[in-house]
Amino acid sequence: MPSATTANSNSALRQLPSVDALLRCDVGSEIVAAAGDAHAVLLARSVVERQRSEMKADDKRSRSDLLDAAEQMMKEHWQKEQMAGTQRVINATGVVIHTNLGRSPLSRAAIDAIVEAAGYCTLEYDLLSGKRGKRGARAEQLICELTGAEAALVVNNCAAAAFFVLTAFASGGETIVSRGELVEIGGDFRVPDILSQSGSKMREVGATNRTKLADYEKAITDQTKLILRVHPSNYRVIGFTATPMLADLASLAHSRGLMLYEDIGSGALTDVIADEPSIADSLASGVDIATFSGDKLLGGPQAGIVVGKANVIEQLRQHPLYRALRVDKITYAGLEATLDAYRRSKAAEGIPVQRMLAATKEEITQRAEAFVGKLAKTALKIDLTDGVSAVGGGAAPAVKLATTLIALSHPQMSSARIEHYLRASKPAVIARIVEDRVMIDLRTVSESDEEDLVAALNHLSMALFTADDADHADRTDQI
Ligand SMILES: *Cc1c(COP(=O)(O)O)cnc(C)c1O
Repeated sequence: MPSATTANSNSALRQLPSVDALLRCDVGSEIVAAAGDAHAVLLARSVVERQRSEMKADDKRSRSDLLDAAEQMMKEHWQKEQMAGTQRVINATGVVIHTNLGRSPLSRAAIDAIVEAAGYCTLEYDLLSGKRGKRGARAEQLICELTGAEAALVVNNCAAAAFFVLTAFASGGETIVSRGELVEIGGDFRVPDILSQSGSKMREVGATNRTKLADYEKAITDQTKLILRVHPSNYRVIGFTATPMLADLASLAHSRGLMLYEDIGSGALTDVIADEPSIADSLASGVDIATFSGDKLLGGPQAGIVVGKANVIEQLRQHPLYRALRVDKITYAGLEATLDAYRRSKAAEGIPVQRMLAATKEEITQRAEAFVGKLAKTALKIDLTDGVSAVGGGAAPAVKLATTLIALSHPQMSSARIEHYLRASKPAVIARIVEDRVMIDLRTVSESDEEDLVAALNHLSMALFTADDADHADRTDQI
């Protein structure tokens, strides 16, 4: 770098702050206290290095100006770091199962159960006998009771469950699947990829929009190991379509000594979303094995749930891959508490996603009106407007839930800037912009989040009013 070399021989470089000086300033001490000496030194060094490399030969700034600039730079670095990592947000997007925002918010009961299990717990211990117990037994029993399955098994997520089933039962042979179901669910889950990874050869049948029972029948050879049905989840073919009934597909599979596996994806234990297939119906149709997610419509922790015939599930349990895919005590604790709400028929009140999906437009309008009444009156323009919320999580893409949105706008501040400002709040508020207004959908904001949301909006109003909220504005600038 010629400029640095020139500067080197120049006195400008000698005015650069030392790492020590930087650590002694306010931000420096704050970082030392919050993140420890080692990290603070790392940050201070990188700031001084950057200042050195960016310095021009004719830089005339004094030592104290340079220290101020370095301190400001370090503060910005530090604030950026604060925005990273897993932290709570308020989901004001109206997308209920929001994969980027952690999918299903857990129920109070699930959170309490997780906190309890975080210490020592009965993960593999039987209190009755005082001997080793069967891991996952309680969750499996609840799943069976709720779905009518003979047996169940829990793994890390639905993608793992699908991979597991295909590997255990179809590797080295062929899996027959309709061309209409070779979908990508999002987050890189693609049916053809998971099949090839499992070592099973994909045998595509039918057309994108229509596949008949005879198509499956003709494709069966002595290489066939499995018939796969995939719920298209976030994708719908409408119009001239056909797909065989699950029961007919099951009869065909069984008459030829094959297994039928359905990847349901989200699946439903209740009828809150009419568009999603019920897990119990799938099993009742004769499916041998089915998989679905714990954190989609079910509203529990991330998990992949496998249900099916007892002998089939037992083979999975004995398979070496199970040890690699099994879940921990935290997942079991959260899942058991979630399933327990369904068993007590309390899902509609107790499980957040179920409650949010069931909320009517009238309820949301009432909440929105009361909410707006709590906001400070300022130049921020606040209107209520009709809108739609989405199920999300790759479930029921065609379902549009009518809602009432709180629309924010300001004559001087762009909606992008308002959205940035809210995103930089603590907790961050995630909203969406529609037609140049920032939209808040209370469907996905729990009542317990409302106070913080009011505070964030009032803070925003104040900042717009006084325009002197330098600290917050700094944080905003960095997004
Ligand atoms: C969502 C989905 C998956 C992946 O589930 P994860 O729990 O996210 O791993 C797999 N298959 C289908 C049909 C899905 O809808």
